[in-house]
Amino acid sequence: MDCYDITEMKMRLLKELNPRRYEHTLGVASTAFCLALKHGVDCEKAYVAGLLHDCAKCLSEDKSLALCKKYKLELTDSEKKTPSLIHAPLGAAYAKNKYGVEDEEILEAIKWHTTGKPDMSVLEKIVFIADYMEPNRKKLLGLDEIRKVAFDDLDLCMKLILENTIQHLKNKEMNINAMSVEALKYYTP
Ligand code: FE
Ligand code: FE
Repeated sequence: MDCYDITEMKMRLLKELNPRRYEHTLGVASTAFCLALKHGVDCEKAYVAGLLHDCAKCLSEDKSLALCKKYKLELTDSEKKTPSLIHAPLGAAYAKNKYGVEDEEILEAIKWHTTGKPDMSVLEKIVFIADYMEPNRKKLLGLDEIRKVAFDDLDLCMKLILENTIQHLKNKEMNINAMSVEALKYYTP
């Protein structure tokens, strides 16, 4: 396991994120840490993945697109339609190149934290779920249940969150990501 300088990471994040995003980031990191303890995966990895999951979130659109080019990231059709999705795959590349994270499990967890996907690793599910349930999140419908289920059954929790997210996008007539639909199918028994 690599040894991470958490203090150094936090100082950089503090510069790169706005205060609200920084608070959210700390919330995701500690929530992911607790979920990792409960579900028996490496809690330091979960903490680092949580800290960095939105590390590319506050970059301007121009800068994001330039970095995608630099890191040779191909944008999918849904990322072109919904640019806010880019911060997840870009965040993985950014965490690697700017924060020195080499651990593929951490990088994959950052990459999939927004859309989810079928057949996720425990660490990937934990970061996805922590992003949704951390303490600073405003109280969405079903959040109490989701927070409870997260400590018992990660797959059921994935299903509940994906259902909520897809329904929310439908209500707002926003574009629904194909990967999230696939993920919901996968987590619906
Ligand atoms: Fe995010
Ligand atoms: Fe987030």
